[in-house]
Amino acid sequence: MSVDTIRQVAIVTGAGQGIGKAIAIRLAADGFNVALNDLPSKSLEVASVASLIHQTYQRKAISVLGDASAEEDVSTLISRTVAELGGLHVFVANAGIYQAKSILDTSVADWELVMGVNARSVFLAYKLAATAMIKQGAGGRIIGASSLDGKQGSGNAPAYSASKFAIRGLTQAAASELAKHKITVNAYAPGFIQTPMTGAAAVEAITAKGNTPQAPNMSLGGPEDIASLVAFWASPASSFVTGQTWIVDGGTIFD
Ligand code: NAD
Repeated sequence: MSVDTIRQVAIVTGAGQGIGKAIAIRLAADGFNVALNDLPSKSLEVASVASLIHQTYQRKAISVLGDASAEEDVSTLISRTVAELGGLHVFVANAGIYQAKSILDTSVADWELVMGVNARSVFLAYKLAATAMIKQGAGGRIIGASSLDGKQGSGNAPAYSASKFAIRGLTQAAASELAKHKITVNAYAPGFIQTPMTGAAAVEAITAKGNTPQAPNMSLGGPEDIASLVAFWASPASSFVTGQTWIVDGGTIFD
């Protein structure tokens, strides 16, 4: 894939805050025009990210609000992006929700909610982004949000862990099927990254309780640490990497 072919238009879901915001800004800094998706309740935050991208990097940024786990909304997100920005070369399926609950307290509704948002949104992104990229015939990059909890089950988040394990499976399956179209599919697996999702809990877990058994050397990272990996996967330099879910947590030594 040539530089010109892949470094053009990116979609980022959950782009109003946290990791998604950092990814959108980093991709704009690297030269992409960006479609920003988040829930309608985040319209002000998304507008502010779009404005920052216009003013600081002189790139185009459009806001396409909607539910990343609803097929019709993801379909609209892609069709508007292609129509208004001229194509689709990178899709970052970042949107997700966290739920801290014992398995004993996790209801079927809890399970459906977390699996619905986290796993279904990534499935829809992979399926519909790949469909658009195959139609364009120029390859592409698809990137999903897993978690350290998708590498090793976390005691107090069974539905969340299961949803993030699901993303690793989806990433491998899609990568093996889409390689022939020159589409790579990878996922990031953050440890504790300080965002509105983790808030004070992340700081407390690292500083007060110490490191976790799963990740003995893990430290507190920033959203930019994830954006750096996504920038690599969105770049021509990563064309030989696919099907991978890489941990970004500053210390874990298993994969
Ligand atoms: P965050 O809660 O700060 O931001 C997530 C964004 O996604 C929010 O703006 C939210 O409105 C949006 N969102 C939620 N559901 C949506 C939906 N259905 N459709 C569209 N947008 C939706 O979270 P974050 O910390 O930035 O996490 C981003 C991703 O990284 C998530 O998938 C999360 O599971 C994953 N992750 C985060 C951490 C961490 O430590 N922060 C660790 C591991 C994995």
